Amino acid sequence: MIFDVLTLFPGMFESPFGESIIGRAIKQELLEIRAHNLRDWAQGKHLTTDDTPYGGGDGMVMKPEPIARAVNHLRENAPASKVLLMTPQGKPFRQHHAQDLASEDGLIFLCGRYEGFDERVRETLVDAEFSIGDFVLTGGELPAMVMIDAISRNLPGVLGASGSAETDSFSDGLLEYPQYTRPAVFEGMSVPSVLLSGDHGKIASWRREQQLLRTLQRRPELLDKVPLSDHDKAVLERLLREGHGST
Ligand code: SAM
Repeated sequence: MIFDVLTLFPGMFESPFGESIIGRAIKQELLEIRAHNLRDWAQGKHLTTDDTPYGGGDGMVMKPEPIARAVNHLRENAPASKVLLMTPQGKPFRQHHAQDLASEDGLIFLCGRYEGFDERVRETLVDAEFSIGDFVLTGGELPAMVMIDAISRNLPGVLGASGSAETDSFSDGLLEYPQYTRPAVFEGMSVPSVLLSGDHGKIASWRREQQLLRTLQRRPELLDKVPLSDHDKAVLERLLREGHGST
């Protein structure tokens, strides 16, 4: 998987992806992250990539021509790559997007700055627009990093022995169950005895119930979208009867 990033600040991508799981995956050539300086496709004496907005107003707008030249250049080597535009106006990025995008051959991330992009970039060059939340950041670099990290975890071999994306929160639509490790007693608080029982059936059913409980208490709206078994529904009804609604 190749992640191409078009940005005015390619140096921002060095440190976050040099460490830990993603750093190791890059060394193993499971993925490649190439941050390109958009200015390399700018023209004129000042290599300008932005200009004042038509109609007036504060701030600067990112010009379409350098972005078009850059995208066309990258697509020469990676014609199948999808172009993703980072914008607070995009569709909210979710775990299922991370899972789906992990099956693409390549992705090109467009990172905005200032007031964002000339509208014609969105209209002509972009396959999808994503937001990482209802807030406005100074640039699209952090959103691109967030998405690359989340997508990479779903690539074969990337997590290795460090865990599985399948049991993570949102993978099956629910939040994950609580996790514990040694010591068995910490400041008077014991690990639930079922986890020490060695009974895998009981552990699995405790974990499923905890997933339902967590989701009910913290993100009840997720329960409307998840396919639930009859057993799940019976557990939820019992949890509600016991007064475990959202807090
Ligand atoms: N004027 C734009 C608006 O109100 O929609 C916001 C521009 S923002 C200051 C500059 C750049 O940061 C955007 O072009 C986008 O690339 C990025 N950005 C900011 N917040 C974002 C978010 N929540 N999700 C994705 N990208 C974001």
